[in-house]
Amino acid sequence: MTDMASNQTAPEDERRNGGRVTETDTRDPQQREDKINILLVDDRADKLLAVETVIAELGQNLVIARSGEEALRCLLHHEFAVILMDVHMPGLDGFETAALIRQRKKFEHTPIIFLTATTTDDIQAHASRGYCLGAVDYLLAPVLPDVLRAKVSTFVELFRKTEQIKRQAERLSEVEAQKFKQQLSETHDRLEAETRRNRFFLLSIDLLAIAGFDGYFKQLNPSWEKGLGYGEEELKARPFLELLHPLDRETATSEIENLKTGSAIRYFESRYRCRDETYRWLGWTAAPFPEEGLLYIFARDITARRLAEEKILSLNEQLEKRVLQLTETNREMETFTYSIAHDLRAPLRAMLGFSRALLEDYGVKLDAPGQGFANRIVNSAKRMDELIQDLLSYNRFSREQITLAAVKLEAALDEALKQCDLQVREKKAEIRVETPLSDVWAHKGVLVQLLVNLLSNGLKFVAPGVKPSVRIWSEEGDVWVRLSIQDNGIGIAAEHHQRIFRVFERLHSAEQYPGTGIGLAIVGKAVERMGGRVGVESQPQQGSRFWVELPRVPRS
Ligand code: ADP
Repeated sequence: MTDMASNQTAPEDERRNGGRVTETDTRDPQQREDKINILLVDDRADKLLAVETVIAELGQNLVIARSGEEALRCLLHHEFAVILMDVHMPGLDGFETAALIRQRKKFEHTPIIFLTATTTDDIQAHASRGYCLGAVDYLLAPVLPDVLRAKVSTFVELFRKTEQIKRQAERLSEVEAQKFKQQLSETHDRLEAETRRNRFFLLSIDLLAIAGFDGYFKQLNPSWEKGLGYGEEELKARPFLELLHPLDRETATSEIENLKTGSAIRYFESRYRCRDETYRWLGWTAAPFPEEGLLYIFARDITARRLAEEKILSLNEQLEKRVLQLTETNREMETFTYSIAHDLRAPLRAMLGFSRALLEDYGVKLDAPGQGFANRIVNSAKRMDELIQDLLSYNRFSREQITLAAVKLEAALDEALKQCDLQVREKKAEIRVETPLSDVWAHKGVLVQLLVNLLSNGLKFVAPGVKPSVRIWSEEGDVWVRLSIQDNGIGIAAEHHQRIFRVFERLHSAEQYPGTGIGLAIVGKAVERMGGRVGVESQPQQGSRFWVELPRVPRS
């Protein structure tokens, strides 16, 4: 084909950008995006047109540059599958332009085909220069259209394939990057969870460990070192059952065996040897994971609790011993009381009997002082017998089994008044009962004895010549019934209000007011045994009001 002329004029802006793009393709711009660029560099319009016509058939983008400088500018904006370049150009010639193109990394392998119409002499020199610059071909004018098209289309195809491979590689690396990113995020999540677990493991004040079914610790938290004094490696180096107290080893071993053979969670307590040879009590909770052959252990130092329990146990033992001792003492007391009742009273009765016999049978032979002495023996023996009897009844009150029940206070009072009837009549006493009286929770016999004691004191402790007057009434509270017995007697000074309830405490001589000083002690004991309270309000010469509180019978 001969030199082809071109009279095409590139628009001003394309020229500025470096080159003009011919649009021989009728496909839409999106499809044109897929087209491949071919750079044609020639200063002559006729040659440009000729080559353009040949290349247009390939349906690619032909970018035209009219000088070497313009070609270099084009390279700033586009990639090219092949560069077709005229050798003879004003300014930069083809070789110089090619040399500058090769300096750019992006274009160091872009195929360059030189097109020239040169003399035969120059052919050899031009070709070798061209090839030195990395040209892939060197075509002499007139260029055969088919040859040029075939060559250019080969490079276009090569470029397309290379681009495809590049794109595939990019996609591949994108997929790889995505996969890598996902792996990274999974690892990050795993690490974070592990860190959280580790923090829990490390910070726990309890002793946490993982042990193998082989009997060795695999992992321990720092609490083991703090609590027992061993370093982690020291504990891992020996079977963990080795440090158990010899007395606890059997139980612990069988617990561990149970765990290995499928038992779920087990709890047991055992002593564990510390580094300083002392033992600490540990409460072990262990769970097996047979698939992993591991035991997950949670142990807590329970030494303080076990010591407290041991102390309580020893205190209980001491207490039991004391109870046994007391029971023994009580038994002895009972024997003693029995001996008082029978053995002491027998000689007393003999004394009384013989001194009476002395007075009756030999009274006439005795002078007045002799009779007086014999009478004194009788009175003392009587008094002694009274004291012994009262002491015995107090003792019986303290020990006898009693059962509480609802008791009609009015009925109990009637019975007590019957027992005091002689005293009432002798003293011509006035008794006023303000009925109704509330029912109480008590033991009837004990209650009657209590009332007799209080009534008889009220009748007894009056000033000489004063007719006793006793008033009885009851008041009901939420829980209690308060029974009051008020007299018009000699009264009691406040400092004696407490002590008169003690055994043998009397404020008067037996000559002034007969008695043994046991009556109120029995009242106190009776009230105590029925779960009640007793007290007195009194002043000397103002009479006394004794009150007793007993649990009231719940309303049905
Ligand atoms: P006893 O009546 O045998 O003396 P008690 O134990 O019944 O013994 O009473 C103890 C003492 O309390 C009495 O000796 C008396 O001094 C005083 N006492 C008891 N009841 C009254 C009372 N109602 N009025 C004044 N004093 C009393």
